Amino acid sequence: MSLQAWRGSHYVVAGLLTAVMLLWAAGAAHQAWSWRKVPVALPIVVTSAYDDWTDTLGRREMLSDVLARAGITGRDYAKFLRATHTLNPRRLQPGLIFDIRRLKGARVASRIDVRIGPEQRLWMTRQAGDSSWTESVENIPWNAERLRTTAVIQSNLYDALDAAIPDSFLPARQRVGLAWAIADVYDWEVDFTRDLRPGDRVEVLIERLQSPEGERRLGRILAARVDVAGSPSYAFAFDNAHGRTGFYDDRGRSLRRAFLRAPLRYRHVSSRFGNRYHPILKRWRTHEGTDYAAAYGTPVRATADGIVTIAGREGGYGNLVELRHVNGIRTRYGHLSKFAKGMHVGAHVSQEATIGFVGATGLATGPHLHYEFLVNGRPTNPQRKDAGAGEPIPANLKAAFDSVRTRLLADLSPCQGQRRRSAPRPAPPATNFLSTIRGALSRR
Ligand SMILES: [Zn+2]
Repeated sequence: MSLQAWRGSHYVVAGLLTAVMLLWAAGAAHQAWSWRKVPVALPIVVTSAYDDWTDTLGRREMLSDVLARAGITGRDYAKFLRATHTLNPRRLQPGLIFDIRRLKGARVASRIDVRIGPEQRLWMTRQAGDSSWTESVENIPWNAERLRTTAVIQSNLYDALDAAIPDSFLPARQRVGLAWAIADVYDWEVDFTRDLRPGDRVEVLIERLQSPEGERRLGRILAARVDVAGSPSYAFAFDNAHGRTGFYDDRGRSLRRAFLRAPLRYRHVSSRFGNRYHPILKRWRTHEGTDYAAAYGTPVRATADGIVTIAGREGGYGNLVELRHVNGIRTRYGHLSKFAKGMHVGAHVSQEATIGFVGATGLATGPHLHYEFLVNGRPTNPQRKDAGAGEPIPANLKAAFDSVRTRLLADLSPCQGQRRRSAPRPAPPATNFLSTIRGALSRR
């Protein structure tokens, strides 16, 4: 060992001793500090009977590759596979993390644990006697909290949420998920690629889940309010008669309608957030339809239940699907790169079913979808009222819905809840991202 290296390690030891002493002092001064947190427990690591390490399943790797690095090969590998019912070696995602423990000096690992999903952790333990493996699955308890946020649209829904929600409340990937989930709730009501204008507001009450390891993710959307051109549109989650959660407006009508607002899913056209991607905006008046810029191959969905009346090449439309719906309404989907399976004249198509894929066939300069909404043969700019009426909450559930809605509204818009004196006291107010941030700033 060189003198320099010796000095270096000497300093590390001295530094660690100081750190341990500081921790001791802190522990003595602060009774509330759990004893588990105090020791850095260096001596234990040094004398540990085990080596512990973490391994990751790489791209194009198989389970056997990771296990081989833990010494589990041949008969040991066969025994391992026989013991697990949860780990399917053919269906593992790259990036899966394995925590491995092996007795010092041993060849084969004695314990492996894998986080197989957000909800579960799998433990594989090797028995000392016959070296067989046992499997146990631990359910991870996620703790749910209600949180509220308000976002003001500048350019698009995702950017607005991204600006309103800090990482500490919801990580970036989960914020994308939140934007998509809100768009899904309002699928029949709002086309988030074109209906919103700068200054429109989105309020949402969500369930945020937190694991004991401190991970945070989006649970359910409980309630939302989206102001489109100044007029509010509410959504309240309610378990309907079929035991499924549906979303209802403030008057108890389902947000599901006969027609979807847009033929492309928001999560499909909004996938290039980072590039400040905006769809082509052309007015139907000059064009008799609506153009949606989207990547080549993006799935196109039927906006309503219907029957196929055209599925083929039609001049400037290129590959076209036309559907006939109730009330003399037809919809057209042009420039498709290809048709979905089963698209032939007379075929029944249900709402949201994929009918084809975005392309640039016919008179198109780049990949986009040309969507037409025809009423009695005349191209029309579909209004929200054209979507049809939402089914109301059945009479026997109306009282239950009203009380759920009152509670959710109080959490979603606390100021409105307080104004109504006769209303029951609202549940403990949901944490407001904005007020929490302001609180943090004002403490300085
Ligand atoms: Zn067009």
